[in-house]
Amino acid sequence: MPRPIQAVVHTEALAHNLRRARAAAPDAKVWAVVKANAYGHGIERAYPGLQGADGFALLDLAEAERVRSLGWRGPVLLLEGCFEARDLELCSRLNLWHVVHCDEQIDWLATHKTTWPHRVFLKLNSGMNRLGFTPAAFRAAWMRLSGLTQVDEISLMTHFSDADGDRGIEQQVAVFEAACEGLPGERSLANSAATLRFAPTRPEVRGDWVRPGILSYGSAPDFPARSIADWDLQPTLTLRSRLIGVQLLQPGDTVGYGSTFRADAPLRIGIVACGYADGYPRHCSTGTPVLVDGVRTRMVGRVSMDMITVDLTPLPHAGIGTEVTLWGHGPHGSVLPIDEIAQSAGTVGYELMCALAPRVPVAHD
Ligand code: PLP
Repeated sequence: MPRPIQAVVHTEALAHNLRRARAAAPDAKVWAVVKANAYGHGIERAYPGLQGADGFALLDLAEAERVRSLGWRGPVLLLEGCFEARDLELCSRLNLWHVVHCDEQIDWLATHKTTWPHRVFLKLNSGMNRLGFTPAAFRAAWMRLSGLTQVDEISLMTHFSDADGDRGIEQQVAVFEAACEGLPGERSLANSAATLRFAPTRPEVRGDWVRPGILSYGSAPDFPARSIADWDLQPTLTLRSRLIGVQLLQPGDTVGYGSTFRADAPLRIGIVACGYADGYPRHCSTGTPVLVDGVRTRMVGRVSMDMITVDLTPLPHAGIGTEVTLWGHGPHGSVLPIDEIAQSAGTVGYELMCALAPRVPVAHD
């Protein structure tokens, strides 16, 4: 018998969440963001659920080759563009769109002998201060690109730093609008948070393309202000395992490394085959929610490499073999959003998805 831990990617949930992005941004096209191996889901496993997108946005040529080898002939966008001049050759052969965010990338294009002209997204740094031309340099970059025979289409984009929070997007939208004024080309601004929160009512935020990532994967970008239930999103990744042991604690007994949890009354606990070496966050501690046979209970003690321990008080009949849901869809229609586990670990759903360990077998339904 293999160890009972398993992850499941839910195809229909991916398709549902993508429809939510479309509904939030009517008449915009959707780049399904599948970087970081589709946020840990696996590009090949996520593809069937996301193939209703208008294009796939990703990180590098290796990911782009994988999407092309799945048979996708539509738009594919390199979100950080090329990393060196010689990337342009494969970029051209794979017929990719690519971001241009610095002068060096324009230099590479200017000297590139291309078979097919390139379609680029010129990126404005509107305040995030990661990638992109400053507002002062943006127009000059556009002029340079538009003078190149190697380039036949220039679109315009920026990326928000606080679309999920109180600071919001107003200042960056204003900077983008001013920098792009009078420039032709399609526009793209919105990540998941901006798509859900602002795109429904603001055409200038939807632009021509939205770029949702995390919402497609069933995590609320502005959790805990809003949950996936509030946004009508569904978990797309389940991590589940089983009980492999049961202990009966007496008052005063402790659990696990560091003896961080002490029972103050008799307590039945279950030992679950899942630990930080599976990608379950070690920063979770007593109180983190978990589903045992679809019933919500709590973790107790510390996360070990291969095991966690859970309170079986609400489940007197649970025993070895009982199903445990660490996040995602549980039995009997139960759901445990990944955002709750992430919050308990002081991180975000993105990180948990991306950190799923290679030793966990992944299926898809
Ligand atoms: N666009 C760009 C340029 C990104 O870097 C990302 C992810 O960080 C996204 C879109 C998608 O963001 P989110 O997953 O928050 O929707």
